[in-house]
Amino acid sequence: MSYDNTVNQAARAELERRRKLAEETARQNLEDFLLRCPRAGEIRRELAANAAGAARAVVSGGKVREEMERRRERGLTLRREYEDLLREHGLTRQDLEPRYTCPICRDTGFAEGGPCSCYKALRRSLAYKQLSAELPLSECTFEGFSLKYYQGDPAAYERMSSILKSCREYAENFRESSPNLLFWGGTGLGKTHLSLAIANAAIAKGFGVVYGSAQRFAVALERERFDRDGGPGGGTSESLKECDLLILDDLGTEFSSAYSNAAVYDVVNARLMARRPAIISTNLGLSGLEERYGERFTSRIAGNYALLGFMGKDVRIQKIKS
Ligand SMILES: [Zn+2]
Repeated sequence: MSYDNTVNQAARAELERRRKLAEETARQNLEDFLLRCPRAGEIRRELAANAAGAARAVVSGGKVREEMERRRERGLTLRREYEDLLREHGLTRQDLEPRYTCPICRDTGFAEGGPCSCYKALRRSLAYKQLSAELPLSECTFEGFSLKYYQGDPAAYERMSSILKSCREYAENFRESSPNLLFWGGTGLGKTHLSLAIANAAIAKGFGVVYGSAQRFAVALERERFDRDGGPGGGTSESLKECDLLILDDLGTEFSSAYSNAAVYDVVNARLMARRPAIISTNLGLSGLEERYGERFTSRIAGNYALLGFMGKDVRIQKIKS
């Protein structure tokens, strides 16, 4: 999978930040220790001199074996004393060494002659974030979803209470093989709010989530289609197909073209084949979807998505009125 340069650069910058932080912290810890315990500094200098002396003894000849043995013993004694001093100060040797986020590559991003898995994970999450940048994720929680706007209509209230409960359960139990959901209903009934609340919960559990409007994704796909000759693509299509959970908001409001309709089908179908869950919200009913994306697409949705019909009066308008 290829990413655009901003993602690669951001991933490398993040690795460098982690590496420097780990090394700086270790350096600081050592400095503090030597300040509190001057004897430790002496030992470190003596150990270095001892090792250099051993090297000189080999070169100069003479009683090399005796000299080496004496220095080895001395080295052991010094190291033991150093360990005791560390313990006295409540430290271990690891405390004075850099604690890398990824011990495999020591936060360099490279291991065993190729990119480390931490670097790949970082690029993936940054690409998802970049793709998802537009929506107010933090504002959309289950706690912030109020049923009072549905109280005027008992049927709507009952329906929305049950949808809220289902969404909470879905979020709590979210896993890679969770089912697909189709939220449909008029504007302002909370479809985006609840799908983002699920996204929040899944992200908190460490899943890779891409969320955004169909319009945004359509624009990104269209742009990459024309940029294809100019270097590596942005990986939008791969991200949409490969993330753990895709939230496709407002399907049907994107600018319609044969290309974007085919791209939507391609993404939805690829995820079904790979059994990766998606939550699609739309104002269009099944007949509207069929009219727009064709019978093949709609039958895939009808057969593989749990349909949740949102009811009520436009919450946004009620909020403005009150
Ligand atoms: Zn690594």
